[in-house]
Amino acid sequence: MNASLNSSGSMPAQPAPSASVAKFFALKPRLFINGEWVEARSGKTLPVYDPATGQQFGAVADAGLEDVDRAVHAARAALETGPWSTMTPAGREALLWRLAELIDRDAAEFAEIESLDNGKTRFMASIIDVPGASNYFRYMAGWATKITGTTMETSLQAPGAKFHTYVAREPVGVVAQIVPWNFPLAMAAWKLGPALAAGCTCILKPAEQTPMSALRLGDLIREAGFPAGVVNILTGLGESSGAALVAHPGVDKVAFTGSTDVGKLINKSASDTMKRVSLELGGKSPMIVLPDVDPQTVAGGASGAIFFNAGQVCTAGSRLYVHSSIFDRVLEGVSAAAAAIRLGPGLEQATEMGPLVSKEQQERVLRYIESGRKQGASVAAGGDAPSHPGYFVNPTVLVDVNPDMSVVREEIFGPVLVAQRFDDLDAVVKAANDTPYGLGASIWTNNLSAAHRLIPRIKAGTVWVNCHNLVDPNMPFGGYKQSGIGREHGRVAVEMYTETKSVCIMI
Ligand code: ADP
Repeated sequence: MNASLNSSGSMPAQPAPSASVAKFFALKPRLFINGEWVEARSGKTLPVYDPATGQQFGAVADAGLEDVDRAVHAARAALETGPWSTMTPAGREALLWRLAELIDRDAAEFAEIESLDNGKTRFMASIIDVPGASNYFRYMAGWATKITGTTMETSLQAPGAKFHTYVAREPVGVVAQIVPWNFPLAMAAWKLGPALAAGCTCILKPAEQTPMSALRLGDLIREAGFPAGVVNILTGLGESSGAALVAHPGVDKVAFTGSTDVGKLINKSASDTMKRVSLELGGKSPMIVLPDVDPQTVAGGASGAIFFNAGQVCTAGSRLYVHSSIFDRVLEGVSAAAAAIRLGPGLEQATEMGPLVSKEQQERVLRYIESGRKQGASVAAGGDAPSHPGYFVNPTVLVDVNPDMSVVREEIFGPVLVAQRFDDLDAVVKAANDTPYGLGASIWTNNLSAAHRLIPRIKAGTVWVNCHNLVDPNMPFGGYKQSGIGREHGRVAVEMYTETKSVCIMI
């Protein structure tokens, strides 16, 4: 059991939001379609809860089929006619840059909104999510002017003729972008940034659990001066508004971040109209700790890798494999780190870890812990929820696990680490790759040769060495195997929002 605030039952209350955020939450539920704020045609709304208290603090519009249709038509019109269709790349760059500046201007408000909506601490939102979003738009602003085609020699021949051939890149078109609840604003930026740089038009659907920062972003998209219809924002449920967007024949591409199960559904549905699809899905990322490292340093790193954002990270370091010679010391360190984490509401300054996003997630994570226990796992830290309202789960470390247990095989998406020992490098490589996922992995060693020999053997889209969960807008991000299709960030992300056109001219 933890000895800190998390299990004592004396968790502080969630402080009241600032006046400006309270005013924003009190706005009438609305959708952002064709540059205007409108109600859902059905008038239906969805409640939004503070995960730290379980109390409703707002409501958003529940977009139905008609709203989806309106948004797709607005996006199509903006793509094909009007100022966006003729805007220069430099014009798009300037708009994206302006949007980044506006996010920075309103950073404090965004951090508060994100904390109340998702449960994460305002502090984390203010150093990770919000600057992550504005910096992402700034990075992608630069790409707008750097999209290039190629010219090539051909072997075509005709009497008396020559040929000029080249490849042009065009915007893929109208894009539906469906994002999850773990980093709501940053995920919106990861989607909108490259699409807008490439000249696409977008319909963004935030997760029903965390719709607020996307709506606030809508205000800034308008203020920045994006032409009407270039970005549309629909709040609503995944199985209705999300599924309707994916099925809509007017959408050219779907970009999705979320669970592998929903990603598979989306991929199937999108194939009916052969939409382009990019998917960033689940993970069960291994951390491999070689015998040469300092156990305390690695314990700190591993704790950060799994407990950051309460483990609600697709690359969370959720499987720890430590060489037998230092296993006990690393386990002791990571368990002590877990027990010392201060749980509490996100707006409270002393809080180090907030609640999970929803009751559903809390129950799901606790079910996993229970199933691990029943199958013979031992709890080295946490293992339960504090007796406090809100969707908290104590940071948990499980040992005595085996590769068949669901806690080892399945993505838990919560603060639950499974720790295992190894002696043989080949065996640990096999174990690390023994998963349908392949998003991230980390190797902890100071042995340069050992690291370089291991890196190519790990089937994952990102391999970190002596760190974990670090992302950079310039570093491609995405998964092998069932962790997804395509990559975000960098040139490749922008190119995934383009079609390739070959041109052949007889001259
Ligand atoms: P989680 O299971 O962790 O809540 P999901 O993958 O269900 O994550 O959700 C990620 C995003 O996908 C959310 O915006 C959600 O509304 C949306 N979504 C869920 N189901 C569907 C679906 N069938 N079609 C399209 N979008 C969906």
